[in-house]
Amino acid sequence: MSHFAPSPRSTAEILDDALAGRRISAGEAHRLLLDGNLLDLGLAAQQVRDRHNDPAVASYNIDRNINYTNVCVYKCRFCAFYRPPGHEEGYLVPFEEIGRKVEETLALNGTGILLQGGVNPDLPLSYYVDLLHFLRDRYPAIHRHCFSPPEIKFLARKERKSFGEILGILQEAGLMSIPGGGAEILSDDIRKEVLAYPKASPEEWLDVMRQAHRLGMRTTATMMYGMGEDLAARVEHFERVRALQDETGGFTAFISWTFQHEHTDLPDVPETYAHEYLRTLAVSRLFFDNIQHLQTSWVTQGKKIGQLGLAFGADDMGSIMIEENVVSAAGAHYKMSQDEMEHLIRAAGFQPRQRTNLYERFVTRQETAELAARYRHALTPEKRELASALLPVVA
Ligand code: SF4
Repeated sequence: MSHFAPSPRSTAEILDDALAGRRISAGEAHRLLLDGNLLDLGLAAQQVRDRHNDPAVASYNIDRNINYTNVCVYKCRFCAFYRPPGHEEGYLVPFEEIGRKVEETLALNGTGILLQGGVNPDLPLSYYVDLLHFLRDRYPAIHRHCFSPPEIKFLARKERKSFGEILGILQEAGLMSIPGGGAEILSDDIRKEVLAYPKASPEEWLDVMRQAHRLGMRTTATMMYGMGEDLAARVEHFERVRALQDETGGFTAFISWTFQHEHTDLPDVPETYAHEYLRTLAVSRLFFDNIQHLQTSWVTQGKKIGQLGLAFGADDMGSIMIEENVVSAAGAHYKMSQDEMEHLIRAAGFQPRQRTNLYERFVTRQETAELAARYRHALTPEKRELASALLPVVA
């Protein structure tokens, strides 16, 4: 029997182990995903969450997802965002425009940017180096969380360098951490099925992360599920991420969300609903005994289920996401102000705290407002309304 097959043990025995601090196996996680009672899973996940994080606090951050290009050589079937090279709707955001978006982010209390694109074949390594220099020199205060493993892999192939060499060059230019995008499900069959394999095999995705961690960069780990894969594939994903974390300790957080199918090439895949989302979240909290933070995904699940995730093992609501283009291209359109985020967290019974991008510390409103004051001139008229919700100190 594969160790991803469900364990014959009962869910009660497995939960007892998890609560006693014993590591649960992939097969046991599979059993919990299959048969665990949702509320039992949630209660156990909360106890484990409280061991890793302050039980009174739930955190969030403010950053902006800047999709610098939508041109992509790949054709992932779950993706509604990309345009092939030469397509009339393909774009590359100019540096000045990226700078304007960074200034708006700072003016809106943001602490970081997440730069992620399609895999644009026309961009040489020097483009990325110049972009990072531009950002570091002009906006040294902003955290630069950029380029997921498929972008790094493509650059490495194009420039005939190793993953570590590419990452080292980008780090030297100002890269601070990399996002966990592009993982989807780290299991061969489903990656081949949904055409995610060419952009990065499971081993390649993991190796980019391994090399980043070896260079001292922290990264996130993600999982997007509900594309028609079986539970064993999700459990395999858990196992691979946990094994790398044992090796490097470089993941700050695990973030999972469900596939959004609008405008994608997988319109007939049945939707994954809240029960399965919360169950998966809780089991991931029980499984990842070596990853401190778990995010709940209000961007894909909506605010109410996102908030409920705080009762199923998550300690963090993720980002306010001043701008997001990828899941919104596939049909998820949720927006949130800082006040609303804090209200959601308070209503769930926790003290809200804005955090830095790598969870190093909490930041105060006064701290971000002082930085924001320098950039308020950058706000476009449409952003002023958002600013008044985000920035109580703005006149
Ligand atoms: S998911 Fe990423 S790599 Fe795949 S087609 Fe979309 S932009 Fe390209």
